[in-house]
Amino acid sequence: MLRKRWACDMGFNVGTLLKDYDVGKLSIATLASHSALQIVHGAKLEGFKTTLIAKRDRLPFYRGFNHLVDEYVVVDEWSDICSQDVVRKLKELNSVIVPHGSYVEYVGIECAENIPIPIFGLRTLFKVEANQKLKMELLSKAGIPIPKTYSLDEAIDKLVIVKLAGAKGGKDYFIAKDKEVITYKLSKLVEQGTIRNFNEALIQEYVLGVTAYYHYFYSPTLNRLEILGADIRYESDIDGLKRLPPNTYLEVGAEPTFTVVGNIPLVLRESLLPKILDYGEKFVKTTKEELPPGVIGPFCLESIITKDAEIIVFEFSGRIVAGTNLYINGSPYSYLYWNEPMSVGRRIAREIKTAIDKGMLEKVLT
Ligand code: AMP
Repeated sequence: MLRKRWACDMGFNVGTLLKDYDVGKLSIATLASHSALQIVHGAKLEGFKTTLIAKRDRLPFYRGFNHLVDEYVVVDEWSDICSQDVVRKLKELNSVIVPHGSYVEYVGIECAENIPIPIFGLRTLFKVEANQKLKMELLSKAGIPIPKTYSLDEAIDKLVIVKLAGAKGGKDYFIAKDKEVITYKLSKLVEQGTIRNFNEALIQEYVLGVTAYYHYFYSPTLNRLEILGADIRYESDIDGLKRLPPNTYLEVGAEPTFTVVGNIPLVLRESLLPKILDYGEKFVKTTKEELPPGVIGPFCLESIITKDAEIIVFEFSGRIVAGTNLYINGSPYSYLYWNEPMSVGRRIAREIKTAIDKGMLEKVLT
């Protein structure tokens, strides 16, 4: 039932997409943003050609890393990547697209999921990721503890965080305690055109504790889930409010906001790791059941750890997250799995390489 809701009919399969490819000459392609440098750096270490799809104004910056890039495909708008010219060029280069955290946000969901170029990862997850409510439903189905979700028809008995769709780094989120404030603020966002209607917002219990974000990698070729790292997001101004004496910000009427400005490395208390691995395994299993063939490669569970060491997951990303940029030379965890510097970008390329060697390429691309 849920599977039917989530399924999307692409009208093509990856075998067909690979038909005209020279698999010995694959190029790892990504949008020049987010974690692109890590991705092309990792691809080069594993011996692949690389392609950066770049907006014209970003070229001067990326040109500084020409040694990591074999080809640039220049676009005026991100959505141009679905134009016939760009698709033809990407095919000629035998490109595999590695979607990162900005991919859907930049190119739009229609282009993101329908582009006729092989994607490293699970295409059908994009649509779920673009919808806050479906996301929470998937986590809940996996049996992963999540915060309570409220509707405006019921009593709001706890502090809540109101979230908007899309990966805009926490922009326009707000915290509230009562329904009137939520309705008033959402009306303003509708007036400004930020959202079309109240249904686009997710009203979620605000969980007290500390934030922690886990970087997983599911390998279909090894049938293994790895925890490759963890981070904390540095968010303005919620993370700055603690610099003020208690209650001062209430006096000046400041309202916490959640705009991500960077990432801070984190190593976890080792006794938390079995539970974190278990959550990741639950996620892999459920995506296999609900969205076959299931998640491929990097994903991230975003959580609050409470004072009782409960882990509550409030969000996931089905792609490489920006927090992995901390570990271009590997993380304390990836080193333990691989005994060599292994970033997530490199791990992606290693997976593609292993898949080619084992004749399993169609198991890691969609
Ligand atoms: P998200 O867009 O879901 O990643 O949320 C952006 C930020 O809001 C997170 O990094 C957290 O700091 C905060 N946040 C999101 N959901 C919750 C929650 N349920 N409880 C507490 N803080 C949250």
